[in-house]
Amino acid sequence: MTRYIFVTGGVVSSIGKGIVTASLAATLEARDLKVSMVKMDPYINVDPGTMNPIQHGEVFVTEDGAETDLDLGHYERFLRNRMSQKNNFTTGSVYEAVIRRERRGDYLGSTIQVIPHITDEIQCRIRAVSENDTYDVVIVEIGGTVGDIEGQPFLEAIRQMRLLEGKERTLYIHVTLVPFVNSSGEFKTKPTQHSVKELRSIGLQPDVLVCRCESQEIPEDARKKIALFTNVQERAVVSLRDVESIYEVPIVLNQQGLDQFVVEQFNLKCNSADLGEWRAVVDALRTPSSTVSIAMVGKYFELLDSYKSLIEALLHAGIRSKTQIDINYIDAEEIEQHGTTMLHQQDAILVPGGFGERGFEGKIQAVQFAREKNVPYLGICYGLHAAVIEYARNVLGWYDAHSTEINPKTSYPVIGLITEWSGKYKKTHDGNSNNKDLGGTMRLGSQPCYLTEGSLAQRTYQSDVIYERHRHRYEVNNEFVHAIENAGMRICGKHQPDDLVEMIEIPSQDWFIACQFHPEFTSSPRDGHPLFEGFIHAANRYAETN
Ligand code: GLN
Repeated sequence: MTRYIFVTGGVVSSIGKGIVTASLAATLEARDLKVSMVKMDPYINVDPGTMNPIQHGEVFVTEDGAETDLDLGHYERFLRNRMSQKNNFTTGSVYEAVIRRERRGDYLGSTIQVIPHITDEIQCRIRAVSENDTYDVVIVEIGGTVGDIEGQPFLEAIRQMRLLEGKERTLYIHVTLVPFVNSSGEFKTKPTQHSVKELRSIGLQPDVLVCRCESQEIPEDARKKIALFTNVQERAVVSLRDVESIYEVPIVLNQQGLDQFVVEQFNLKCNSADLGEWRAVVDALRTPSSTVSIAMVGKYFELLDSYKSLIEALLHAGIRSKTQIDINYIDAEEIEQHGTTMLHQQDAILVPGGFGERGFEGKIQAVQFAREKNVPYLGICYGLHAAVIEYARNVLGWYDAHSTEINPKTSYPVIGLITEWSGKYKKTHDGNSNNKDLGGTMRLGSQPCYLTEGSLAQRTYQSDVIYERHRHRYEVNNEFVHAIENAGMRICGKHQPDDLVEMIEIPSQDWFIACQFHPEFTSSPRDGHPLFEGFIHAANRYAETN
């Protein structure tokens, strides 16, 4: 029978609830338990797909093509289990489903209310994750902070679940902040007490408190006080200080006895946690044998969470090769204004995914710099578009080559919507058909890519066919592919049977690859990712020889 752990947050946001949740999952997985996770987001958007990355952070794409909250990225990096569209839902999607049923007349004339209709739908979705009791434990993270108006139906739904599933199969964890006040030299427990009081006022008594604090552990007397005032067992008040790397958190939680407490509460018979792989990750981070500087040329740097998976993927490649990765975030608009001088001294250049006109010419200049100076280059999605456009303009001499995303009137639309250059795909690609919605209409999710025999891509992946995740509307225009290949750029990966360009490389360069998909979504600290490992290897070689 599946057990459910519910994780709520209190006091303030951004204290790492997602990392705590994912790390707890990692410790349970390390005990050979089957674990899955759910993130419930209280906002009204149906999914985060249409949100501005600077507001919300990255949109994480699952194998099955769901556009989800970035916490699902943490879940996949900490667990070997893959997430799907079942593992993340919002208030908007819950209401959308209930209202659709109401319109169809399924409720037979009843008045539709938050309790029970919305709360039932929430519970139904939580249970759907472990249909037929596939998992021993499902960990459910509730977005936002206790006290938020929009979070209430979720809290009510999980309150009911204890009654329905029983005390031995449900556990409430509350993540709070215990600040240290310098002037008095004390840890302050009051905000945690208040937050728990707020939870209890809606009928939720936490079983575990994970108390975040800065560099020092919370001393025993403060933990005792918290336990007494919040009615939580003392051993279940866990102190979690800031650590250098998020990948240390499973180890710290295990040292604090959290996974042991959980399995005892659930009466689960299982091994103790084998965290050897996590220790190896942390050791590799602590003892690098080289350092490389990577220029990331993008435009959503006001919130680095916009590039969460990408930043992590670079670090993973560093872990695998014992390389310290120094990422320099270079605003593409700065390059437009001040030129490419800031790209000197960099060991490799990365142009990540993006949308729209702002900063795009700066990205083109960064590609040109990488190509002309033979600096290792990795282009991802928009970074592939930039690479193809730069090549068309500066090597083929097609001076106004562009993507129709920016210039629909270009004489060389080397990047365009598939329907602009071929009518054949109208049915399969919703974004180009009559569906004018912006949400959920891109080419999304995992798709096969066949790699060209003997290419750098094939050598890097050590495979002929790979599966990577997509999130874009525009594609390389096949009408120009022949001319581009004749000029020396190689198409080294293709989607079949659709015959779409997935990867390009320039064989005359030392290391120049771009891909239409997002490899960062499938990288993890323990297993790395071949493309990022190849990129960092090339950066190391460049650093040694330049
Ligand atoms: N803007 C481009 C498109 O929609 C690229 C998207 C991306 O980089 N994810 O095709």
